[in-house]
Amino acid sequence: MPAPTQNTVVVGLQWGDEGKGKAVDILAQRARWAVRYQGGNNAGHTLVVGGRKTVLHLIPSGALQPDVGCVIANGVVIDPEVLVRELDQLRAAGLDLEAGRLHLSDRAHVILPYHRALDACREAQLADARIGTTGKGIGPVYEDKIARRGVRMGELIDPERLRARLSDLLPEKNRALREWHGHPGFGLDELLGWAAPLAARLAPCVTDTVELLHAAVDAGEPILLEGAQGTLLDVDHGTYPYVTSSTTVAGGAAAGSGLGPCDLHVVVGIAKAYTTRVGSGPFPTELDEAASERLRALGGEFGATTGRPRRCGWFDAPAVRRACRLNGVTEVCLTKLDVLDSFETLKVAVAHRSGPGGEISEYEELPGWQRETRGLTRWEELPEACQRYVLRLEALIGRPITWIGTGPGREETIRRTGAA
Ligand code: IMP
Repeated sequence: MPAPTQNTVVVGLQWGDEGKGKAVDILAQRARWAVRYQGGNNAGHTLVVGGRKTVLHLIPSGALQPDVGCVIANGVVIDPEVLVRELDQLRAAGLDLEAGRLHLSDRAHVILPYHRALDACREAQLADARIGTTGKGIGPVYEDKIARRGVRMGELIDPERLRARLSDLLPEKNRALREWHGHPGFGLDELLGWAAPLAARLAPCVTDTVELLHAAVDAGEPILLEGAQGTLLDVDHGTYPYVTSSTTVAGGAAAGSGLGPCDLHVVVGIAKAYTTRVGSGPFPTELDEAASERLRALGGEFGATTGRPRRCGWFDAPAVRRACRLNGVTEVCLTKLDVLDSFETLKVAVAHRSGPGGEISEYEELPGWQRETRGLTRWEELPEACQRYVLRLEALIGRPITWIGTGPGREETIRRTGAA
């Protein structure tokens, strides 16, 4: 657990959906600032606000803690339409973030309607080779950012600059959409008409978030940086090309927020007690459909953003071990352990070798515990076989497992102070 003035990064150690939302919710209780630093509304965290289930895609989950300031930093890509919808949902649930609590970076890139259209058109064209994206325009907007033809929040809120910028950019976009994809394209006035009310609404929140965060550092106010997606979806370190288009590893938190690397003190890695993946791409420990279906039903493994059924498999220790190193993880939170309660035997991948059809996993088998662990809060209460499973994972990944999730609720958590 971080000390009161330490800044903490929370990252996923698998393919996203590790249950970061719950860890963030707990850690945000000791934070003064909650920051998103990469990705966009391809992420999804299901939370309960004012008794209502709310799925947040862009706003940091730490927003639910009353005194936490929320920052969507420069590394994030913002779909203003989605953001306004989320703000409305939260307002309806009694949470008004626009009264000075939400800060949007003027440097964050904007997802425009043509990014979404290009995402959909490209996936359709790839057919069997498709990435299985969330269809939110993430790839196309990050492409534009790197190619220096993006639109940033600072431009979105300035009508004259926006008109000039879009006049320059739109011909190329329309040509791609029309000539390659048979899409009708977008008119300049159509886009400006779409942007105007969104920009007017968001403008009061747009600021230089780098200055804001450094002022927080100077004041010793703890910052929580919320990673989205997971390490195996990182554009450099993931299963390329079946990845997302941002740097999801903890190193990206510095560039994506403007904090210095030494301002990031604690890195909490989140790993599920088994593995899931949505979208296409390699998955060495994937179960066959029947077994996958069992785990999916037990764990409620359906995407929070797209509702797609997640592919399910055994814990992949070499992948998580590497992810711990890539992120400089200081402690690990193991989530959804209770989902494995009913299994007679559990498998854990301990090594991989190349085979004719891709990677082949070598497994170790461990006895299951076949007892309910749901809601347990003390390590000593866990069945011995369950403890052995956790300790084996800890030895294999080489980092201390300090928290264990035994259910979705905040209190359904075991804190292991004596972890190795
Ligand atoms: P994109 O980020 O929409 O471009 O999708 C690229 C890949 O990342 C696809 O396989 C998506 O399913 C996956 N992906 C993106 N965001 C998430 C997430 O938050 N959780 C899990 N998978 C994600």
